[in-house]
Amino acid sequence: MIPVTKPYLPNRKKLEKLLDGIYSRHWLTNNGQLVQELTARLEEYLEVDNLLLVANGTLALQIAYRVLGVSDSSKTGSPEAITTPFSFIATASSLKWDGVKPVFVDIDPLTWCLDPKNIVPGLTANTRAIVPVHVFGNACDVESIGAIAQEHGLKVIYDASHAFGVKYKGESLLKHGDASTLSFHATKLFHTGEGGAIVFKRKEDLERAKKMINFGITGPETIEELGINAKMNELQAAMGLCVLDEVEENLKLRADVWQRYEEALGMYMQLQAKSHGLDYNFAYFPVVFDREEHVVHIAAKLKESGVLARRYFYPSLESLECLGAQVDQPVSRDLASRILCLPIFYSLPDSVQAVIIALIRAELRV
Ligand SMILES: *Cc1c(COP(=O)(O)O)cnc(C)c1O
Repeated sequence: MIPVTKPYLPNRKKLEKLLDGIYSRHWLTNNGQLVQELTARLEEYLEVDNLLLVANGTLALQIAYRVLGVSDSSKTGSPEAITTPFSFIATASSLKWDGVKPVFVDIDPLTWCLDPKNIVPGLTANTRAIVPVHVFGNACDVESIGAIAQEHGLKVIYDASHAFGVKYKGESLLKHGDASTLSFHATKLFHTGEGGAIVFKRKEDLERAKKMINFGITGPETIEELGINAKMNELQAAMGLCVLDEVEENLKLRADVWQRYEEALGMYMQLQAKSHGLDYNFAYFPVVFDREEHVVHIAAKLKESGVLARRYFYPSLESLECLGAQVDQPVSRDLASRILCLPIFYSLPDSVQAVIIALIRAELRV
């Protein structure tokens, strides 16, 4: 089966060299040498400050909520956060898991990111934060969101899991908000097997998060505050250092795949409208059919040919019982029912891509 994405495996000899170092130092976790090295290299590559590596992208969100006081239960009122229904489950479930009610407001029908004009109607006295997603690596309307947050005294945490390396108006997209989180899961563009990072706007938030990811421990006999275990380990960092060495090459190959799809399908179907000023990372190739039947039919056809396309992101999150009863979000629900993500990864064979394109064009009769 051809998967929708395939984890990138870097040069094995190089990885073995780093493993040799781990063996000789006999140091496996707790802010080891490779974690420190990867932190510095990522800050440089992404052109950001205050980056903290963590065990996965979900914990990155949870630590950010905690540091910024979103999930702080010592404050009065039951906390709420405005978020998007069109994302991977972790954006909203991480809020709910930490006792924050995710309040869904609808997305923009073209960019598929949270639509700023829907934020204010969703606010209550208990709203503490806005948690937008740069979905598929597209930039949210960061200017409008920033202005609303400032006016209403809200924190902004961007789930930037898809936005590794994305630039917006010539700068890292990760510079917006009080924090941005990344996922380094195996299936993401840049990965550490499992892993993630938080990029904080303020150094003091970074310093607090550093304690929090290690149980709140600050010395051999001092525990300063409540914490959890969210540390990245040396094996993860070793993988990350090797993947980072090859990320530019990986990006080039993905861009080729992306452009071939765009040329063959772009004029026949809706694609995501990229925000103005975006320098994209070619992380995903979602297409939108005009009816759900087409999606179901083409997904079955592709499967017969050994290709697994996936219905990302389906279903729209406001429809999930486990997140609590919510108002229907028609733009998100409609998009979710008609979207399909096509396989995109560095080693996707041209011949397979040609089959995928031919099957879709046959379905569309073009
Ligand atoms: C992958 C992903 C996450 C979760 O990251 P993990 O590293 O798997 O915990 C969160 N949000 C979005 C949008 C994602 O795509």
